[in-house]
Amino acid sequence: VHYYLDNIQTKAHLNAFVEVYKDSALAQAAAVDEKIAAGKGGRLAGMVIGIKDVLVYKDHEVNASSKILKGFVSQFTATAVQRLIDEDAIIIGRLNCDEFGMGSSNENSVHGKVLNATDESRVPGGSSGGSAVAVQANLCTVSLGTDTGGSVRQPAAFTGVIGIKPTYSRVSRWGLIAYASSFDTIGVFSRNVKDNALVMEIMAGPDNFDSTASKKPVPNYSELLHFDKRAKIAYLKETLASLALQPEIKENTVALLEKLKQEGHQVEEVQFPLLKYVLPTYYILTTAEASSNLSRFDGVKYGYRTPNAHNLESMYKKTRSEGFGEEVKRRIMLGAFVLSASYYDAYFTKAQKVRRLIKEYTENLLSKYDYIILPTTPSTAFKFGEHSNDPVAMYLEDLYTVQASVSGVPSLSLPNGTDKEGLPIGVQIMANSFKEAELYAFANYLT
Ligand code: GLN
Repeated sequence: VHYYLDNIQTKAHLNAFVEVYKDSALAQAAAVDEKIAAGKGGRLAGMVIGIKDVLVYKDHEVNASSKILKGFVSQFTATAVQRLIDEDAIIIGRLNCDEFGMGSSNENSVHGKVLNATDESRVPGGSSGGSAVAVQANLCTVSLGTDTGGSVRQPAAFTGVIGIKPTYSRVSRWGLIAYASSFDTIGVFSRNVKDNALVMEIMAGPDNFDSTASKKPVPNYSELLHFDKRAKIAYLKETLASLALQPEIKENTVALLEKLKQEGHQVEEVQFPLLKYVLPTYYILTTAEASSNLSRFDGVKYGYRTPNAHNLESMYKKTRSEGFGEEVKRRIMLGAFVLSASYYDAYFTKAQKVRRLIKEYTENLLSKYDYIILPTTPSTAFKFGEHSNDPVAMYLEDLYTVQASVSGVPSLSLPNGTDKEGLPIGVQIMANSFKEAELYAFANYLT
């Protein structure tokens, strides 16, 4: 804990941590030391973990990087976080992110932007940018992020670390501040596969507080890392043909596929004609869900309340106008629009149907192949401000990550070399629902 506290202080300018729990982390560490000495340490005894500012932790402030949650202190702890604590992990602090998880660069945060430790003039990715940089810059062993449309995998790729989005419903969402409830997942950032697998197996599993959490038993992923089979691997023609794809990312992805072929795996090109529909589907459905989820922030129940109101209605309006950032307001308006009576069928219902097609197509491919390999991102980390005035350009950053989110399947991003400027490149591996063990074993083979 002292080692990480020192690093956090030296690298404070990266702005990864919003709050460091110095006293409680040291107290937790002392208690864990005693348990270890008595031979009673848990499975995560001494592992130092940072958590994204959207996961609640009893008696600690949580803001979802939004002004609207300023001063809000949680009365309970998220199930995922509690399970780590129960195994003697040490929670060292909370990590910066895009407001309510909306963004791909960590520039939309009331706490300010996070710097990429490889090149401080560039974004770390988002929305879990602080969680990625915390692992990248050695500020904790492992961190938790959330991934609704790529928010763990994309920042993992931009910072050269490992990041997983589990199957939807694999990890309880109790205590995760909702963005889009039918997409939200809690994921893990780490430097090696084993730590990632261990943390995931402890967080995952049924939970009485979240009826959507799967009741399927959780295998011990960290003990199933041995990989010795001949894998069937598909890559999607359209993803590599995309004009948006940076040439070096394509080269490194193709080189990896070639290497796998030479090692005796079956590698085949398949079509994914639905690629052009994944982003519109994702952004219609997630903004709809967000507009509904975020209606609870009205100045009455949580955090910020405007001091400038003169009656109830102006209190609602002013609190929300002053409390939410620009991107969040854009999405609430988009979501309210696609859910409005005259456009509901044209956008929302249609997008749900397309979601079903994408999900069935993806699951069908993954029943024939063990893995789908594709780039994690179309580009490496971009400069601050590069996409700030163009929301559509920012949304395009999610081109390759949203397929797994729309389909609910697990997906992991691994470092796959660098571009000519030395910026990390990520490669993404998808497997069928609840195949996390297979995903981790393959990732272990590749690293
Ligand atoms: N960049 C995507 C978005 O803004 C993904 C966010 C996420 O996964 N939380 O919606």
